[in-house]
Amino acid sequence: MSALVLVLNAGSSSLKYQLLDADSGTVSASGVVERIGEPDAKAVARHTVSGEATTRDVDAPDHHAAMRVVLDAFATDGPPLRPQDLYAVGHRVVHGGDLFRSPAIVDDAVIDAIEDLVPLAPLHNPGNLAGIRAARAAFPTTPQVAVFDTAFHQTLPPHAFTYAVPREWRERHRVRRYGFHGTSHAFVSRRLATLLGRDVSETNVVVLHLGNGASAAAVAGGACIDTSMWLSPLEGLVMGTRPGDLDPALPSHLAREGVPIEDYDRALNAGSGLRGLTGTNDFREVERLVEAGDPDAALALDIVSYRIAKYVGSYAVALGRLDGIAFTAGIGEHSPRLRAEVLARLGLLGIRVDADRNAGGPSERVVTADDSAVPAWVVPTNEELEIARQTLAVLR
Ligand code: ADP
Repeated sequence: MSALVLVLNAGSSSLKYQLLDADSGTVSASGVVERIGEPDAKAVARHTVSGEATTRDVDAPDHHAAMRVVLDAFATDGPPLRPQDLYAVGHRVVHGGDLFRSPAIVDDAVIDAIEDLVPLAPLHNPGNLAGIRAARAAFPTTPQVAVFDTAFHQTLPPHAFTYAVPREWRERHRVRRYGFHGTSHAFVSRRLATLLGRDVSETNVVVLHLGNGASAAAVAGGACIDTSMWLSPLEGLVMGTRPGDLDPALPSHLAREGVPIEDYDRALNAGSGLRGLTGTNDFREVERLVEAGDPDAALALDIVSYRIAKYVGSYAVALGRLDGIAFTAGIGEHSPRLRAEVLARLGLLGIRVDADRNAGGPSERVVTADDSAVPAWVVPTNEELEIARQTLAVLR
């Protein structure tokens, strides 16, 4: 049988999909339905086959309707999507808490467990669940698999995932480090070991997933041993609109200053990071501002690269031996400037960037000099392929 997997990434108001062969990685179609359930705007669907995109205004008051829009797009624009040709549907699910260490074949108990984890990911798990329910209704006889963003980080040792907070918080409120972007960290760390010509089980790497959201992971012998995000995707690196590490005293300080908690939440999720420092969360725009001599943008670049370098340094200590560094996601793959700034701060580790290798776009390549003590690579991430592969693996 073919290894055709429909990968779904359902957000609160969007449904992204990709139809691909999990063995070969060949993508036969992809697309997205956006603005699902928005009262004031029509939903928009984009379906891409062989590089040709078709965009339509559609009615999608909920995820079930959005799923029908997707099926219509396949029926109209191709390729044919017949349930009997489909090996499985693979779902991205953001939070698996400490219940899911690996992908899970979806049944009612798995759905209940994902529901139970909503308090840990109130912005994400409900949308993921809506996508699962819609896909189960659309493909009632096709196996469905949930692939969790947190699962790859379940190998963290207790000294890395435990916060030094009261026992009641840890036990009753499930306060611990969970980590995100796990699918990307899994894919990229394994790929980097291959590129280094080493066995995964004997390779220690740091993966820097630098997109609008950003996180670092320390991976030893294929198992994640530390990562920079915890309960929510706020901690760690400076991101597009989120601050990364902060003093936990900040909320009570601001409360005493009269800042309402809603303003605080909004500012941390949508008004901090690059946007808080420069007014934009688009890294290309930040780079343009730096070129134009804007001091805020120059400071932002310093803050971002300094924070990343500190994490790499601390993860080198955690790993004991560092065999390679991978830059991935939008900024990590596309920005030679950021990579150069980060690597320049890592001279203590004997790292030396090669300006020619580092220049240019997102192709897979080494960007350090031959005499660099640790090689750094650009490794484009592919979360859909990783979800498809994990889906296939758990079923086979
Ligand atoms: P998301 O977390 O939303 O998936 P992406 O991985 O797509 O994010 O990354 C988005 C970020 O990548 C944005 O800040 C964007 O400006 C940045 N980016 C995309 N292309 C480039 C480029 N050519 N140069 C610098 N930054 C880029």
